[in-house]
Amino acid sequence: MYGCLTMTSLPTSELLPDFIRRRAREVADTVRKIREDLHAHPEIRFQEHRTAALCATELHRLGMEVRTGVGGTGVIGILRGNAGDNPAAVAFRAEMDALPMDDECGRPYQSVNPGAAHLCGHDGHVAALLGAAQILSELRHAIRGSVKFLFEPAEEMTPAGEKSGAQAMIEDGALQDPEPIAVFGSHFYPEWPAGSIALRAGPAFTGNDTVRLTITGQESHVAAPHAGIDAINVAGHVITALQGLAAGFNIEEAVTMHFSKISGGRMPNLIAERVDLEGTFRISDETLRNEMPDRFNAMVRGVCAAFGAKCEIDYRSRNLPPVISTPREVNIMRSALHETLGIDKTIEMRHPRLAADTMFNWLNRKPGVFYMVGVAGEDPATHYPSHHQRFDIAPETWPASVSAIAITAIRYLEQAGSKP
Ligand SMILES: [Zn+2]
Repeated sequence: MYGCLTMTSLPTSELLPDFIRRRAREVADTVRKIREDLHAHPEIRFQEHRTAALCATELHRLGMEVRTGVGGTGVIGILRGNAGDNPAAVAFRAEMDALPMDDECGRPYQSVNPGAAHLCGHDGHVAALLGAAQILSELRHAIRGSVKFLFEPAEEMTPAGEKSGAQAMIEDGALQDPEPIAVFGSHFYPEWPAGSIALRAGPAFTGNDTVRLTITGQESHVAAPHAGIDAINVAGHVITALQGLAAGFNIEEAVTMHFSKISGGRMPNLIAERVDLEGTFRISDETLRNEMPDRFNAMVRGVCAAFGAKCEIDYRSRNLPPVISTPREVNIMRSALHETLGIDKTIEMRHPRLAADTMFNWLNRKPGVFYMVGVAGEDPATHYPSHHQRFDIAPETWPASVSAIAITAIRYLEQAGSKP
């Protein structure tokens, strides 16, 4: 599928960035074709059989040790380098699943599977990781340790009480034999131009916190308001107070706090006794996030008390934990990116995205980086946000995403591999 490389053209360490840049450009078209093939044949959670088979075939072709059926439909490839005697391994993860939605991209590679669509860029994550696997397999002589390729099922929309693909893979031994000293993963994002990579130490995705709130007043006929306590009125004050609270936060922080579901009342002529609200809070600053349950409780209780209403609060902090990149790994990756992409294409994220990702499963156990890959190019379709039905990826994305993985794998093992 890819072009071959003769042993005589293998680069020394200083020439490695040039080699990776060149090969990343050369494999970019094949990577694009893999992505378009996956885009046309999307598979939703734990049904990624075709995708997994494609990954396994490619990893086998590259001469890797391959495990299939890991945690369901997960696939692992292990590339053993032969630059010196170093037992360390570093892992890179790509998600394979699509969303249970319809694709409206209108391109020749539009989904042929109704109710399944790659609108989150996971097709591109897989294709880029396979492109990097190709280049790294040509560079075994430069790899001081092993590189582990994790193709993860079921990243999206884990139903309550069920496992995500990341959990299932980890429980099935994905972090063993060899145990990686760090895990890296990426997400495509139209917020940055194609060809650039954005990263930061600390939270990359905030994860989310959820809130359920029940306000109980006193039912009475609207003709006798003095006998009732209007739970709908109290709920209105709680909603307003919540936005007032958010208005007092540091403007540098990214925050979204919304009640997104509300129900209450029985009849048009009865003052409502009960209102139920549910909401999602995402807060970029971890200190503020830790304070929020107490601040929210105090605010809600104060408002309810003022009206004589009662409340029950179920604040689930870290319903989905944040995805946190560790400083040492970010530093090593940043300098590796400077070598290949250049400083101008290596972007510091100002604050985390208000999003959630199963990458936290890996990074709660191992150090590593969750970085963002810019996908926005000239085509307006490459500016749609993730989950938009016309989400697309600019071609300049491929060389950057592929070379970022290849250079980081080699430099990370060189620098961190001998002293975990
Ligand atoms: Zn995603």
